[in-house]
Amino acid sequence: MMTPSERSNGAEAHGTIVVVEDDHNIAELVDLYLRNAGFRVLQASDAQRGLELVAQEKPNLVLLDIGLPGPMDGLEACRELRKTSDVPVVMITARDDEVDRVLGLELGADDYLTKPFSPRELVARVRAILRRAEPSRRPSDEPVTVGSVTVDAQRREVTTPAGEVALTAREFDLLAHFAENPGIVFTRQQLLDAVWGIGWFGDERTVDVHVRQLRRKLGDALPLATVWGVGYRCN
Ligand code: CA
Repeated sequence: MMTPSERSNGAEAHGTIVVVEDDHNIAELVDLYLRNAGFRVLQASDAQRGLELVAQEKPNLVLLDIGLPGPMDGLEACRELRKTSDVPVVMITARDDEVDRVLGLELGADDYLTKPFSPRELVARVRAILRRAEPSRRPSDEPVTVGSVTVDAQRREVTTPAGEVALTAREFDLLAHFAENPGIVFTRQQLLDAVWGIGWFGDERTVDVHVRQLRRKLGDALPLATVWGVGYRCN
């Protein structure tokens, strides 16, 4: 008998997704919908096995439940994953306080879903993230300078006079959006639409969290202003 983790639709798949979820019913439902949407799905029920699958299979995206059995929860697994991979990660949270931790911990997750979520919403999010992850969507090849920060979209490198700065994928995309549109005031919703994608269901404090991280990492080199009552502007 094949285990769920061995089932796939192979060569015709639109991409491979590793699902790390210990709740069997949720895992099966997610598996079903993603496979019906044309993805190859590999399942793991704990973080260790999930990390092994990611290393072996080089998936296009990882769905990672926070509450996992064993010594490593989903938050730690995401942090561990980020040491070696920039694969898009969607965290699955069970409670609002877990959302706060995902947003606050700078784990490098790309998105999150709160249980209960509809399988359709899941598939829509996965597709949106994979579209964004395509390298061809980068609008500019030339490095752009804003303040004393240089953003090289092609190499995905950020440098200041003090040297190169490591950003998460989403922090980079937000910075690149500011750098490509100097002097323009964006509302938080406009930034969500532009950087996280239209149809992203998260709330606006996500933007504030990422702006805070950019300011912390880039300091005075980045002229990123809060426009009170409106949003943010960089120039
Ligand atoms: Ca769980």
